[in-house]
Amino acid sequence: MKKVLLYLDKNRPQDLSLFAASKMLVKDEACIISAIGYQEDLPLGNSVYDEVMIIDEKHVMAYDTMNLTALLKQIQHVHHFDIILFPSTPLGRILAPRLAIALHVGLVADVTGIDAHDGIVELIRPAYSGKLMAKILIKGEGPLMMTLRPNIFTYHSEDVKQTVYQTLKKHEPKASGIILLETKQKVAGKDIRDSKVLISGGGGVLHQFNRLEDLARVLNAVVSASRRVVDSGVAHRKIQVGQSGKTVSPKLYIALGISGSVQHIEGLKNVETIIAVNTNKNAPICSLATLVVEGDAIEFIEKLLVKIKENNLNFKEETQ
Ligand SMILES: Cc1cc2nc3c(=O)[nH]c(=O)nc-3n(C[C@H](O)[C@H](O)[C@H](O)COP(=O)(O)OP(=O)(O)OC[C@H]3O[C@@H](n4cnc5c(N)ncnc54)[C@H](O)[C@@H]3O)c2cc1C
Repeated sequence: MKKVLLYLDKNRPQDLSLFAASKMLVKDEACIISAIGYQEDLPLGNSVYDEVMIIDEKHVMAYDTMNLTALLKQIQHVHHFDIILFPSTPLGRILAPRLAIALHVGLVADVTGIDAHDGIVELIRPAYSGKLMAKILIKGEGPLMMTLRPNIFTYHSEDVKQTVYQTLKKHEPKASGIILLETKQKVAGKDIRDSKVLISGGGGVLHQFNRLEDLARVLNAVVSASRRVVDSGVAHRKIQVGQSGKTVSPKLYIALGISGSVQHIEGLKNVETIIAVNTNKNAPICSLATLVVEGDAIEFIEKLLVKIKENNLNFKEETQ
């Protein structure tokens, strides 16, 4: 019986990608899947997990990674998990290597693909800033540890189990040397990974990229970009879609002046509908699109805005 531990990170409680990845690793083998995290990030009631361990904030805060690592190490020594998975989020990227060092095991970071067959596990991850994809063969003793890129692995079943909940209170943290002086709410734009509608711009709209915001506002959508736009300094890297950017799964992806390079398409996973607006109907993105509009992308935005206004359409509720 395989035992799996998933660290459910802050801010991404609905993300089932770690669960999906664990299913790919254990295949048809009997397994117990446990999730660990803070109360607000965990499911309530029955869920896909067999067991949920709640970390008590009164004992260890998430920013106190030294004590959090010690807690995870203690849990591993009691439960002996075969597989331990973290998301490749800022906290996951801090915790996973610390725990790997504490347990004296290896860690594969930023995994984007899993191939488990006949007792062999091979993992895919970008290497050399995404210039090539490395295949890593797992050897030796466990636990098998990795961080996984969010939004790559998906799980759709509605199956739920009778989840057993326990709050971890026994751990006695050491004095961490961190004193919380003040907390401030971060005012941030919506993460492109969480948006159901993305208005994405590429080289074809480079010089009028700010016009995408006009359409995004009316459609209650979020603006994203290709690397061409990001490398030109017109857009921030946090909104870049693709192999060296973020992986997104919106319901609707409007690609304005984007050619659809392999590296860009790599960042589109489970997108329901792609509308491609391009002056070149033979651009690679057009072969993936549900609808292709051949023409100038800025003209498309202007005409669409006029139509939306004429028909008094309101997208405030439907799209997010
Ligand atoms: C290691 C590596 C990692 C990479 N990672 C990423 C990544 O994460 N994300 C990413 O996007 N790229 C990535 N790239 C870059 C990628 O190879 C392409 O160079 C990039 O995606 C091109 O962006 P683009 O399609 O927006 O621009 P372009 O290649 O300049 O294409 C512009 C498109 O707009 C069309 N067009 C021109 N004018 C108009 C107009 N007025 N109206 C409508 N359409 C118009 C053109 O026909 C063309 O199809 C990576 C490359 C490498 C080597």
